[in-house]
Amino acid sequence: MNGKIQMKTPLVEMDGDEMTRVIWQMIKDILLTPYIDLKTEYYDLGLVHRDKTDDQVTIDSAIAVKKYGVAVKCATITANAERVTEYNLKQMWKSPNGTIRAILDGTVFRAPIIVNRIKPFIPAWKKPIIIARHAYGDVYKNVESRIKERGKAELVFTSETGEITRQTIHDFDGQGVIMGMHNTDSSIYSFARSCFNYAVDQKQDLWFATKDTISKQYDHRFKDIFQEVYDNEYKDRFEKLKIEYFYTLIDDAVARVVRSEGGYIWACKNYDGDVMSDMVATVFGSLAMMTSVLVSPDGYYEYEAAHGTVQRHYYKHLKGEETSTNSMATIFAWTGALRKRGELDNLQELINFANKLEQTSIRTIEDGIMTKDLTMLCSDSDIKSVNTEEFLKEIDYRLKKILY
Ligand code: NAP
Ligand code: MG
Repeated sequence: MNGKIQMKTPLVEMDGDEMTRVIWQMIKDILLTPYIDLKTEYYDLGLVHRDKTDDQVTIDSAIAVKKYGVAVKCATITANAERVTEYNLKQMWKSPNGTIRAILDGTVFRAPIIVNRIKPFIPAWKKPIIIARHAYGDVYKNVESRIKERGKAELVFTSETGEITRQTIHDFDGQGVIMGMHNTDSSIYSFARSCFNYAVDQKQDLWFATKDTISKQYDHRFKDIFQEVYDNEYKDRFEKLKIEYFYTLIDDAVARVVRSEGGYIWACKNYDGDVMSDMVATVFGSLAMMTSVLVSPDGYYEYEAAHGTVQRHYYKHLKGEETSTNSMATIFAWTGALRKRGELDNLQELINFANKLEQTSIRTIEDGIMTKDLTMLCSDSDIKSVNTEEFLKEIDYRLKKILY
């Protein structure tokens, strides 16, 4: 390699919080800027700056994704009551991921990084299971309230022309809770299409599941749209590739997934995807080995790690104690974004770099060098437990060898 790799279009860089913010800077310093003339448009989504800008920075960053097409995001704190006190916040800001997904729409694909030394907790799982999570609506865009007295709760729809339909949700004779949520046909269609496209792209079966037997309108709509899109637009391509579209009830799907050997895409409604991607990540080893990309129907991509800000490690770091935080998923967020940028801008050197960085990251673990979350899962005797920074330097040592 002679000289740094040049980029054409900037990546939208969304910085975040706590331990992942620390790792973010280390990855840039150790693995990226020595090799790439890194071009980014920087947005600080750390909680302090979100609060300072009344969360405008989150909205601005999502708009920038629409302008440039590819983003890489660090994990961020979703504020709750404790965080409001801890950071002395003006208000309990919404989840940045929720805000970004609401602006970009789309589907989140989560895939585990598989390494030979780490055996899944479910021995039958031989191949990755990719979770495709609908990233719009349902409980993540709900309206809810506590009922404090007797009374009637109703679902009311007022059409543009003023026509009103009403249904009773419940006649309360005491306290309780209610919630209203929604989705739109257009978002469900684009969810379905991005899942079928991804299946064709990866040449893998697609599974989809809802609770349509209980939710005869809401969940059934998802089932019907998927079937319609499959029959009209994808059936031929699936048959040609000898891959399958398979629909079942969510509880049946869970049972089948556990008994399967993996190797398919599992499309999940928003909440199911939230829960099941943590389950799949855990079975494959560690949350720190789960990658995540939001693919919007307009062709925008936002790459991130599936895990959070690793708060417990951050507090140790603040006390000056050594940490052993696994940076794999955050590295893969960067490589995913750089490779996509390379594809869009036709920069083969950038694509090669992203591939090589992924290979050497996996190689490092397969050489037996890993952070504590992984050493706990590996029974080999020749492994070396390293701290947060050592792990990155071990990757860099191997990266240099294949780059030069
Ligand atoms: P978390 O940050 O994912 O961490 C949960 C636990 O998983 C950690 O305490 C750690 O276990 C382990 N872990 C996760 N990532 C790891 C890594 N890279 N290396 C080693 N171990 C790792 O979840 P959380 O503690 O529930 O949430 C912390 C904050 O993150 C919250 O404020 C939440 O709002 C936010 N969050 C953000 C996102 C996002 O931005 N996408 C997603 C989820 C959560 P041990 O402590 O046992 O070592
Ligand atoms: Mg979650």
